[in-house]
Amino acid sequence: MALRKVLIVGGGSAGWITAAYMDAVLNGSTKKIIDITVLESPDIGRIGVGEATVPSVRDTMRTIGVPEQDFMRAADATFKQAIKFVNWLDGNDAYYHPFDRRPAGRLDRAGLRWLSSDRSTPFAATVSPQPWMCEDGLGPKLMDSPDYEAPVSYAYHMDAERTADFLCDLATKRGVKHVQDLMTEAEMHEDGRIAAVKTQAGKRLEADLFIDCTGFRALLIEGALGVPHVDYSQWLLCDRAVAMRVPFETYYPGTRKPYTLSTAVSNGWIWDIGLANRRGVGYVYSSDFIDDDTAEAELRAYEGAHADEVQARRLKFKVGRREQFWAKNCVSIGLASGFIEPLESTGLFLVELAAATICEYFPMTNNMAGLADKFNLVMQRRYEETLDFIVLHYCLTRRNDTDFWREVQKSDRITDSLKSWLEIYQYKSPSHSDFTDSLQLFSHHTYEYVMYGMDFQRDKIAGRRMPPTAIPKEIEDAVLKSRGAFPSHDAWLEAKFGTQYERAS
Ligand SMILES: Cc1cc2nc3c(=O)[nH]c(=O)nc-3n(C[C@H](O)[C@H](O)[C@H](O)COP(=O)(O)OP(=O)(O)OC[C@H]3O[C@@H](n4cnc5c(N)ncnc54)[C@H](O)[C@@H]3O)c2cc1C
Repeated sequence: MALRKVLIVGGGSAGWITAAYMDAVLNGSTKKIIDITVLESPDIGRIGVGEATVPSVRDTMRTIGVPEQDFMRAADATFKQAIKFVNWLDGNDAYYHPFDRRPAGRLDRAGLRWLSSDRSTPFAATVSPQPWMCEDGLGPKLMDSPDYEAPVSYAYHMDAERTADFLCDLATKRGVKHVQDLMTEAEMHEDGRIAAVKTQAGKRLEADLFIDCTGFRALLIEGALGVPHVDYSQWLLCDRAVAMRVPFETYYPGTRKPYTLSTAVSNGWIWDIGLANRRGVGYVYSSDFIDDDTAEAELRAYEGAHADEVQARRLKFKVGRREQFWAKNCVSIGLASGFIEPLESTGLFLVELAAATICEYFPMTNNMAGLADKFNLVMQRRYEETLDFIVLHYCLTRRNDTDFWREVQKSDRITDSLKSWLEIYQYKSPSHSDFTDSLQLFSHHTYEYVMYGMDFQRDKIAGRRMPPTAIPKEIEDAVLKSRGAFPSHDAWLEAKFGTQYERAS
């Protein structure tokens, strides 16, 4: 059978993850069945953000076939064990959403037990050692843990540009073609499929399947095929970000945090991510409530006086998704397919999922409509699931210090599906059977971390004398063991890759 030609337009994280993944899965272990070309403009930059990930990225990198430390070194990566949310509830609070949760069997009563206690210990600290490990500055891995494995679950913080460069280098060495040129137009077949892409240098690139990874430009899926964008701005108000890269020579805060810090501020939230040789900070905000200059000033104030030396980059975005992710012979992946604000690091997860799913549904014929329908269903559900989960973080707030925080709590800012679950959760805790889709990223564990982190149903125990929250012995033992056994996050990174100063030079 002739090789199927795949043209990926766009060489950001989405383009290169997709190229490397498809090559590894579809060409790696069997006879080569696809011929992949990545067309990337040397003049249009990548978005350059997208530094926090979720644990699925370990499987993705393992499948691509990369030794873990090679990837971490190239991407200036550090470990992520959790997200620490600060000031989301009332402006004077903090809670963890860790990756690890001690298994409790099918009838998980941990939530109910916590709800009927005085809540003197945060919920997450009663079901996972990871909040404790994060506060202790420990990494998730032992010095001799095998690649991509550790006693607790983890993901990475990684430099988005360097990750894309690393995967470009790896994929091209394995045979993926790289054309550095600007796409100028798409040539169409009479039946509405894309026939070829033309470039500034006069090339005409034909393919059987086109993958649109052109970021927010969405040149193929929207530009050539006219697939509409489904707008989520009714539920998610943020539409801007301002981001800074703070080098360690400018400011080194002591240790690299083994978690993402997300701090709610006047009109949105600030991410704070420690990489091996710099920090990435950024303010995600709503332009209806704060102007760009004031938002940048607020980010600089968060960072401190040294931030005056650092340049800030401003970004605009639309929240939502494609009505169809795969239309005719074009699949959109990454920002071209949609975007939901990065509060739970779902952007790269959705890229990984799309890359894996396209391998499963890879079209060996030009009759693709049936495969496209299935693919679209998988991706649509993931977007809707992500939307609900992100809205959950906002709608439970009790902040009323600005119009923004008062607005996000209003009923018409909550999706109908989330509303119906929150109604049910007045009477029962989240449990296994509420999450029946095997591809779901979020589970009753993640819902409980956020709901109880945000003190859900606090009014039910107000004024009542409740027993103190008990920390199960299993968690106490795991915390004690971690203190003796796990190297600090910095110690692990420095033992493998050198000090932050060596890395920065
Ligand atoms: C503020 C912000 C913060 C984020 N934080 C996170 C996070 O912490 N974690 C996470 O998982 N995700 C995050 N994301 C999402 C993440 O950045 C993206 O999902 C990911 O980087 C994929 O981007 P992309 O490759 O689709 O687009 P881009 O990086 O924009 O790449 C687009 C590519 O298309 C090419 N291109 C464009 N036009 C042409 C043309 N005419 N011809 C040829 N090539 C062209 C460009 O050269 C570029 O290579 C964040 C996004 C934003 C906006």
